Amino acid sequence: MLIVMKFGGSSLASASHIRRAAELILRQKKESGVVVVVSAQGSMTDELLRQAAEQTSRPAPREKDVLLSCGEQMSMSLMSMQLEELGAPAVSLCGWQAGIRTDGRHGDAHIRRIEHERILRELRAGKIVVVAGFQGVDDAGDITTIGRGGSDTTAVALTAALRADLCRIFTDVDGVYSADPRIISTAVPYHAVSYEEMQEMADLGAKVLHARSVALAKKHGVLVEVCSSFSGTGEKTLICADPGPRPPIRGVVCTETAGEALISLVGESACLPETRTLLQKTLEEAGIPLYSLQAGGIHLTAALPREEKERAAQILHEALFPGNTDAKDGNAESRPSEGEDTREEQL
Ligand code: ADP
Ligand code: ASP
Ligand code: MG
Repeated sequence: MLIVMKFGGSSLASASHIRRAAELILRQKKESGVVVVVSAQGSMTDELLRQAAEQTSRPAPREKDVLLSCGEQMSMSLMSMQLEELGAPAVSLCGWQAGIRTDGRHGDAHIRRIEHERILRELRAGKIVVVAGFQGVDDAGDITTIGRGGSDTTAVALTAALRADLCRIFTDVDGVYSADPRIISTAVPYHAVSYEEMQEMADLGAKVLHARSVALAKKHGVLVEVCSSFSGTGEKTLICADPGPRPPIRGVVCTETAGEALISLVGESACLPETRTLLQKTLEEAGIPLYSLQAGGIHLTAALPREEKERAAQILHEALFPGNTDAKDGNAESRPSEGEDTREEQL
């Protein structure tokens, strides 16, 4: 058995965070082989961008990628050191060392293939392999990065290429909710969400998963689990083809553009006339102007004033998920049983 474990920036923010993540890895290593994917620590990537801006307002894309890749490179070496400190043989690999081959679009490269011989060799030698997320190498031999939040996509791509059993994404929330739980305190946690629902939510701005990671997981049938590296409760959300009964609306996603807030309802009933009516009526009763409505796929997106973003998200969520405080129990039967741009990642 082989598991890919990905740790996001907040899960690696300090030395003690790294140690905690390393302990989770060691626990998994008792049961299976482990490939670890790491993001840059905390807000390191933003800090590197800030430093680039101190040099120039127009950094060369190639140089920007060289700089941004350093964050993940730091994390992978620190993690390997910590694993060794805890007695587990480990090896860190940059994108190019791990064989992650991408196209040459700096800052938004797509993974073409993974030449995984080195990873397999290290696994056969009994090592925990720690791979830098978010980066690869193009045909010219230059470092590329694959887009903000892209370590999730590295993790899913590795899971597919290595035919690993599961991709476990460790983050700072204990799963996928009906809305960002940092904005909507009554958001509903899910045991399982379909690839389609998750991809739509991610495409529309729910940053819990990189949208391309979900597309790739769907394409290769990769099981993805989202869980917390902090809570230790064991709660998690499985992203899979068949999550069981689906609620008519799975989630409320909010983002903003320069001029307006965008609130999207995602789910199989999003495009039904009654959903449109409910949205219009709810906003109207709250006196929130509706600039426009757009429907597509399994979403309905409302544009409204930016300053109304959180209030609109709150009241729409309340209208769709009335009185939900602890829906994970209420949703238990939807938990599956065990065992069960136009460029795509070409993997
Ligand atoms: P990481 O650094 O681990 O990659 P991210 O910040 O990219 O973590 O993603 C986790 C964040 O996603 C959470 O802290 C939460 O605020 C946000 N988020 C947005 N929408 C959702 C949602 N529907 N369910 C859970 N978290 C969400
Ligand atoms: N460090 C990169 C970012 O902040 C990639 C990632 O975290 O997934 O966007
Ligand atoms: Mg992320």
